[in-house]
Formats: sequence, C-alpha cells, structure tokens
Amino acid sequence: SIESGKRQQRPPGNPTDPVARLVVISGPSGAGKSTVLRRLLRECDLPLAMSVSATTRPPRPGEVNGVDYHFLDRDEFRRRIDAGDFLEWKEVFGLGHYYGTLRSEVTTGLKHGRWVILEIDVQGALAVFQDSRWDPVSFFIHPGDMNELERRLRSRGTEDETKIVARLKTAAREMKFSDHYRHEIINESVDHSVQEICEILKEYCS
Ligand code: GDP
Ligand code: ADP
Ligand code: 5GP
Repeated sequence: SIESGKRQQRPPGNPTDPVARLVVISGPSGAGKSTVLRRLLRECDLPLAMSVSATTRPPRPGEVNGVDYHFLDRDEFRRRIDAGDFLEWKEVFGLGHYYGTLRSEVTTGLKHGRWVILEIDVQGALAVFQDSRWDPVSFFIHPGDMNELERRLRSRGTEDETKIVARLKTAAREMKFSDHYRHEIINESVDHSVQEICEILKEYCS
C-alpha cells in the first residue's frame, strides 16, 4: 500500500521532476532479480535506469565493466570509500566481496528524471531505508521456495560448490528481512513479476 504522505517527499537532487524516484530491489542471489530487471527495463514504459554498482568480485563470463558492474580491486574500492563516493557499501556476508552504490550513479539518473533502480543486498537496502531523504519504492523478490532457489543457482553454473552453499546461507538470512520492503514479489513467472513491478511503479505516478 502507498502512504500518500510519503509520496509528497522529493528525493534529493531531483527538485524539478514530480515523479521519478529511487527504487530498491533485493532478494536472495538466484531469486531472479537480474532476469526480471533486464525485462523490466525493456518492457516497462517509464524512464528507468539501473544504477551500476561497484564490486570487488571478479566478472562472470560475459559481464562488462561499467555495464554490469564497475569492477574495482580492493585497494581502489577502499580508496573510494574514504573519498565518500558511496551512498552505501557492504562486504556481503559469506562472499568476501565488497559491493557498493556510487552516489554519482543515483544523483545523475535522478537529475535526468529517471527512476534509478538499486539492485542491492539487504544490508545495503536497510542503510538506504535509514536515510529518510531517499524514501525509495522497495521490492523484495522471493524465489518461491529454497529448493527452487538452489536449483536456479546451480543451473546458472557461475559459482562453485562452496560459493553456492555460502549464497544459500546468506539467502536464508536475507529472507527474514523481507517485511522491511514495501512490496514483496514471488518470482514464479518472469512475465508476471515484470508486469506486477511496472504496475506498482505506475501507482506511484498518480
Ligand atoms: P536523452 O539522453 O535523449 O534522454 O536526453 P536527456 O536530456 O535525458 O539527457 C541528456 C544527456 O544526459 C544524455 O545524452 C546523456 O549523456 C546524459 N544522461 C541522461 N540520462 C542519464 C543517466 O541516467 N545517467 C547518466 N550518467 N547520464 C545520463
Ligand atoms: P539474481 O540476479 O537474483 O541472482 P538471476 O536473474 O541470475 O538471479 O536468476 C537466477 C537463475 O534463475 C537464472 O538461471 C535465471 O534464468 C533463472 N530464473 C529467474 N527467474 C526465473 C523464473 N521466474 N522461473 C524460472 N527460472 C528463473
Ligand atoms: P552477485 O554477485 O550475484 O551479482 O550479487 C551478490 C549480492 O550483492 C546480491 O545480493 C546483490 O543484491 C548485492 N549487491 C549488488 N550490488 C550491490 C550494491 O551496490 N550494494 C550492496 N549493498 N549490495 C549489492
């Protein structure tokens, strides 16, 4: 449900556009976030823009620097933390890699009237929720059930066994925070999830 009081608030850096705002999407790794978002950007007729996160994790085959992530080494990541370049950053539980949202990604998009989408982990999202200036539209993507999550993670074939076990543990921990999000999506069908998210975003426009 949408509280009308909150709708009146304007995100910083976006004084002129009455509509575009920050969107936060979380959910366990393998829930289908990337798949759903790729389709949402193509099919939802709103000016959407993905915030490209920075990470120290190595690129997966096919991932492009500056498009999928800004791939940084640990020293460069730490330097940019010290420089205050991140809106939020976290060392994601169990994975041993840093992930963070660059302030510049968010402010540039909002300035251009775009809905800037953050695909970030639960810790990062909670940090964004704490700062009342952002007031994001938030979604938690559920995989349906944990067996399905495990099946999807394995079928993606991008992580070895140790990493899969670590991601499943993180997933169980993250799902406990789903009620901190305004909207929960059960990603059983990609079509349906894309349609549902687009419709919800449009409700915030009126
Ligand atoms: P548009 O690019 O035709 O939609 O025109 P805009 O007025 O929205 O943008 C003008 C310029 O700003 C574009 O040519 C882009 O270089 C840049 N720009 C627009 N949106 C974004 C954004 O979300 N992020 C970044 N980094 N640059 C943008
Ligand atoms: P995330 O970005 O949340 O880690 P991905 O988008 O990479 O997850 O999806 C993980 C795997 O599950 C991929 O192989 C993807 O094709 C598959 N997948 C995503 N959504 C669905 C769905 N609704 N039904 C079946 N498989 C899905
Ligand atoms: P993956 O390695 O599968 O791309 O992402 C692993 C986890 O890192 C996911 O839970 C994803 O949401 C999270 N993540 C990606 N980018 C960011 C970010 O900028 N900030 C934070 N806090 N988490 C992120």
